[in-house]
Amino acid sequence: MDNTLMSAATQFHTDADRVSHDLGHRERIRSALRKYEVARDDKQTRFQSWEGARQAAAEIKWEAINHLDQHLEQLVEKLERRGTVVHWASTPAQARDAILSIVKNANARSIVKSKAMTAEEIHLNAALEKAGYSVVESDLGEYIVQLRHEAPYHIVFPAMHLTRGEISELFQRELGSEPTTDPEELTMIARRVLRGQYITADVGITGANFAIAETGMISITENEGNARLTAALPRIHIALLGIEKILPRLEDLALFLPMLGTAGAGQLITCYNTLYGGPRQPGETDGPEEFHVVLLDHNRTALLADAEQRDALSCIRCGACLNVCPIYRNVGGHTYGTTYQGPIGSVITPHLRGLQDWKHLSAASSLCGACTETCPVKINLHHHLLQNRRNAVAERPVWWEKYAMRVFAFGATRPALWRFSLKMAALFQPLHALVKSGPLDPARAWTATRELPPVEGDTFADYWRGRQR
Ligand code: SF4
Repeated sequence: MDNTLMSAATQFHTDADRVSHDLGHRERIRSALRKYEVARDDKQTRFQSWEGARQAAAEIKWEAINHLDQHLEQLVEKLERRGTVVHWASTPAQARDAILSIVKNANARSIVKSKAMTAEEIHLNAALEKAGYSVVESDLGEYIVQLRHEAPYHIVFPAMHLTRGEISELFQRELGSEPTTDPEELTMIARRVLRGQYITADVGITGANFAIAETGMISITENEGNARLTAALPRIHIALLGIEKILPRLEDLALFLPMLGTAGAGQLITCYNTLYGGPRQPGETDGPEEFHVVLLDHNRTALLADAEQRDALSCIRCGACLNVCPIYRNVGGHTYGTTYQGPIGSVITPHLRGLQDWKHLSAASSLCGACTETCPVKINLHHHLLQNRRNAVAERPVWWEKYAMRVFAFGATRPALWRFSLKMAALFQPLHALVKSGPLDPARAWTATRELPPVEGDTFADYWRGRQR
């Protein structure tokens, strides 16, 4: 079937089936994540109490989210006081229009961009390219997936699905480089191309990891120094961020920077941590002439209004829940078809893009709770997946489920009938082998890849009586 005609759910199931059978892919993801797990566990022990840090972080973000209006006002007032232009965008279209108009007014030709998931969320690159601008991603992983015309595979590690050999082939094809699988040489090849971009770009676009209400600053944390060059060298700096990025106080960074480094990449702290509070001030020798901050809502206020799931706005996009999720590890990042993958993506995408179209993501979970257990800000992820399932059914009930449950309730509340049904099921189950996985098998969706568990002929009461003897 043409991919453009498939529903998001059908596409997800088709891709999940294909990717989960790819054992090479599975091993590649597992091996990348094994190194991460060792590093993360080591760094967590450096905290006096990782659990205490999680609790403190959850409380700070909860306070920030519950007073979001006040914190945003404070942030904007402080930013504007130093000459920053703040743009409010309710929708992705408004955010794109705001950025396009800044770029147009600046007579810009080329744009350099550092990693920003919000930019993926609003499909910014496609809009800029359609308007005739050249956009180059400066983060190495993002640059690689840009050359492949792909979406990032992971919130933190955009190119984790590729081998060094595949990256080398890509660089040979797209950049005319010599073959190499040495990571340093591969980095240098990309670096030679990217360095020129910083110098010639008129506009630099970044995201933000945090927005500090108290001081009116945005905080960007990274390992390559590319975001710093993206923000500092071009004439104009545009930062695009979701309104939930708020932290109330500057001192909160003392907790959140090492926490993001640890949970996100197994590092004590990321290499470059920079605060931006405005354009170049009189007497300063560097920095952009103009600084624009675009604050994106895109249904975040609707999520804020949901008292049950509001805490999903506390997410600091560390990606830790993806790393431990057995579904993500088997189906991979592209299968989700969303900007945010894994457990957090499955929780928030139905809010951002519509519950009925994206409810299948809530079913793509074993509900093992590993995501909730690892989340540094203690978002109750697996519980929210259950709530999404419940909300989807309440909004649009599946007609036959009601009747199926009635039949079940009828049998389950009549002991004699229940006992008789179990005996019959156990007696006739061997016949199932004759039609197993074929068109006549009513359970073929299950039996195509799994064994049907044998039906116990006895009830629990029979089992209990047997134990007493
Ligand atoms: S939900 Fe938690 S673990 Fe997942 S990306 Fe957000 S902060 Fe990290």
